[in-house]
Amino acid sequence: MLVGKPVHLINALLLTALAASAVASFWISPTPLLTGLALFHLLWFGLASSLYYHRVLAHEGARLHPLLEGFFLLGGLIGFSGDPVQWAALHRYHHRTSDVPGDLHSPLDGVWHSLFGWYLRIQPANFEALPDTSDLRDHWWLRWSQGSGPSALANGAYTALLWWWGGWQMAVFTLWMPIFVSFFLAWALIASLCHMPRFGDQPYPETRDRSRNVLWLAPFTFGEALHNTHHRYSGAAVLSRSWREWDLTGWLLILFEKVGLARQVRRVPREMRTATR
Ligand SMILES: [Zn+2]
Ligand SMILES: [Zn+2]
Repeated sequence: MLVGKPVHLINALLLTALAASAVASFWISPTPLLTGLALFHLLWFGLASSLYYHRVLAHEGARLHPLLEGFFLLGGLIGFSGDPVQWAALHRYHHRTSDVPGDLHSPLDGVWHSLFGWYLRIQPANFEALPDTSDLRDHWWLRWSQGSGPSALANGAYTALLWWWGGWQMAVFTLWMPIFVSFFLAWALIASLCHMPRFGDQPYPETRDRSRNVLWLAPFTFGEALHNTHHRYSGAAVLSRSWREWDLTGWLLILFEKVGLARQVRRVPREMRTATR
């Protein structure tokens, strides 16, 4: 089992520190600089997770220009998305086991479990059961990013830089708080709300899982809340089927494709975009 009883101490300490930073941010008076930097980091880390780790790496939905790939890889490492190959393996496992016993973060095992519990009790010793990611190990920059060291190093150096520049307030308000928010939006809310029948709708019931499209959540999650569409067409990097389905990640990929920074951007088949339920 990927999730067991023993607490993963590092993840528990990290999540506690991130949550404490989010709380401490209420006592910091934000200047325009702090607010702007915090928003930039939120966007950078959120897109590193949704656009690069998820749609490009885990599902091979598009290919990025090396400069853009480096930018988002750095964002993923600083923002504690961590080891990209492991991230992709864990996520491919979620698609293989959605809402059946063994699923990493199904709300069928409880709301707390799908929000944060799975992260606190994950068992890396059992990771050998994860799906194949040899396609990703071919890339030297991904091999070099494996393990927790590169992420810790990148975040540590960046935290030190911000602390030196603007004191602990800058590090906490513009870096650690946005990491917590993007973790909450990217992992926790998608894993829980978007697999609960009481939210959203399911235009593709043939997925035979509980994945849902939650339209009001899509703008806050860079489009990742179009989750039933995603489970049906996991290889598609563009999930939006109309202007009402906000998919910042997919729309940016289309833009990157137009200006030559992305290629082979895969879409939901045209004839399948009208399903409603
Ligand atoms: Zn899912
Ligand atoms: Zn996915």
